[in-house]
Amino acid sequence: MLIDPEKCIACGQCEVYCPVGAITIGDECAEIDFDECTECYNCLRMAHCPADAIYQQKLEWPRTVRSVLSDVLTIAPESGISGRGTEEMKTNEVTGRFKHGWAGIGIEVGRPVVGARFYDVEKIAMAMAKLGVEFESSNPTTSLMSDVKTGKFKDDVLNEKVLSAIIEFSVPLETLDQVLSGLKQVSRQIETVFSLCVASRVAPDGSIPTHSVMHQNGVWFAPNGKTNVGLGRPLIKEDSI
Ligand code: SF4
Ligand code: SF4
Repeated sequence: MLIDPEKCIACGQCEVYCPVGAITIGDECAEIDFDECTECYNCLRMAHCPADAIYQQKLEWPRTVRSVLSDVLTIAPESGISGRGTEEMKTNEVTGRFKHGWAGIGIEVGRPVVGARFYDVEKIAMAMAKLGVEFESSNPTTSLMSDVKTGKFKDDVLNEKVLSAIIEFSVPLETLDQVLSGLKQVSRQIETVFSLCVASRVAPDGSIPTHSVMHQNGVWFAPNGKTNVGLGRPLIKEDSI
């Protein structure tokens, strides 16, 4: 995103809409730190600039990555995917993607204010790849990897900054312990933060099989449940998964 210094009147209206603090207001005009800007479009969409000074420059690869992962309305030209994760993570009752005995993992790297650079996303992905995980193929973050076996990303995206990027995969429950240990280790090597989503099917006795593993690893979590009351139509029959 750019600001036209000829038009800007330094009113300051756009500054509060930037989730990464990339806008500074000078005496005569505002300025956007181009390296920090995640191309989230917030300032242009929300600030209603009175001077019409904010404009979107033509985005070219690899800067397009910023927009795809920071502005939910952008669709990636490379993958045709919009948003940061795959909605199947939240609709398992329809897709049956996470089977009994498995845990679905979503690692959201970065948050508003801090954001995330892809060199940190790569460190986490490579740590997880060492456990033999298979990254979700329809996830936009996976589409930026040059090697899905090692979690290595394309070199030209490594310095790109986004609001957040979600790494997705599923593991057998017995591997969850190693995932949590690996995440604790790699958390000391990165410059940003991440949050973890662990999804699993509820066992027939009503228990949630991932809870004990989380407790044993000292991981605080906020349980969320979802019950399908008929709005979805299961694609995979229970006895086949
Ligand atoms: S809202 Fe427009 S005029 Fe006001 S500081 Fe931002 S760019 Fe400049
Ligand atoms: S596009 Fe987003 S990150 Fe960039 S200056 Fe505007 S609000 Fe800030």
